Amino acid sequence: MSDVFEIAQSQIDKVAKQLNLDPGLHAIIREPKKVIEVNFPVRMDDGSVQVFKGFRGQHNNAVGPYKGGIRFHQDVTYEEVKALSTWMSIKCSVTGIPYGGGKGGIKVDPRKLSEGELERMSRAFIKAIANDIGDAIDIPAPDVNTNPKIMGWMLDEYEAIKNRSEPGVLTGKPISLGGSLGRTAATGRGVDITTREACKKLGIDMDKATVAIQGYGNVGSYAGMIIQDMGCNVTAVIDVYGGAYNPDGMCAYELDAFVKENGTVKGFPGSKDITNEDLFALDVDILIPAALENVITKDNAGDIKAKIISEAANGPTTPEADDILFENGVHVIPDVLANAGGVTVSYMEWIQNNYGLYWTEEEVNERLEELMVKAYSDGYEMAEKHKVDMRTGVYLNSINKIALALKDRGWATK
Ligand code: GLU
Repeated sequence: MSDVFEIAQSQIDKVAKQLNLDPGLHAIIREPKKVIEVNFPVRMDDGSVQVFKGFRGQHNNAVGPYKGGIRFHQDVTYEEVKALSTWMSIKCSVTGIPYGGGKGGIKVDPRKLSEGELERMSRAFIKAIANDIGDAIDIPAPDVNTNPKIMGWMLDEYEAIKNRSEPGVLTGKPISLGGSLGRTAATGRGVDITTREACKKLGIDMDKATVAIQGYGNVGSYAGMIIQDMGCNVTAVIDVYGGAYNPDGMCAYELDAFVKENGTVKGFPGSKDITNEDLFALDVDILIPAALENVITKDNAGDIKAKIISEAANGPTTPEADDILFENGVHVIPDVLANAGGVTVSYMEWIQNNYGLYWTEEEVNERLEELMVKAYSDGYEMAEKHKVDMRTGVYLNSINKIALALKDRGWATK
């Protein structure tokens, strides 16, 4: 199974069966409520006009407004946005934040755009979906290839259209525009908090543990730096241009500085290049996929030697691979739990915007720590109780919460 939306639905169906979920509620949860497709023109630097295709999936808003990032990637599709928005609904209920799921994307390779084209495209997309978002409707944020700078342009455009200040319409903003301290590192930090909790359960000593990371962008790099602070040794990293492998370990901070200068981890001093195939099969304790979907499949799951897979990316593991990993005793911390730190601090950003009161980084990190530890332990307990993998355990908790909200709105079968 490689169609991501089909995967998302199959994960929901599996849990619905286990929960004996009301058929009406199940039918609602397995489809996004609304998917918007826009085709919008952008003036390019050479004077030509290019029409870009963008999407916004709004999966479910029973618990609260739709919430989730916007990605810029050449492989973005209607189906992908449907899957990613579904996963966001599950994810928001994992840490219990009052949001439903949303996700957007533009089909574009942003590396091919100039800075000016990138800005005009970002503004044009927000203009195209301005009436479908809002701080109580749908709240976008960064995702693959988007960042605080882009959120700043989008906020500026949105507020100009609406003629009002509404900083809570977007999260992951620059600090000067109401962004939260701790937001940029939050996804990586959350990945590492859940990994640390898993190490405790499995009796793995973090001071002796080795880590391999696929993807060294915002999420992968912070996951690398923070897990190193927790005692681990990063021995392999890879990005779209190539890899860096050193069995003695590499400094995650120096890697980050190297990427900022060279645009890739490839060529990091003292390292050898490595392929994705080899990275996944490395004899490490912790494997962190921090790039895109469908990278752990039935073809490579059996080669994985890591004891813990911490899914920093959304949807990196197919259902067939999940079964193989469970059988082999690999502890998979599912995306909707492992990477929930980003949206959890987005929620804190939104609260701060709505109150006009701002917290210190320590306060944000403390709250994140508390919510992530609880989410991990709730998922772990549920998985133990039902003798299922962590993904199923976490989904059981989450779908229960969404189903209850839908039921209380009157949507259960009579
Ligand atoms: N794009 C991130 C995710 O997939 C963060 C979403 C958000 O902060 O709304 O969870």
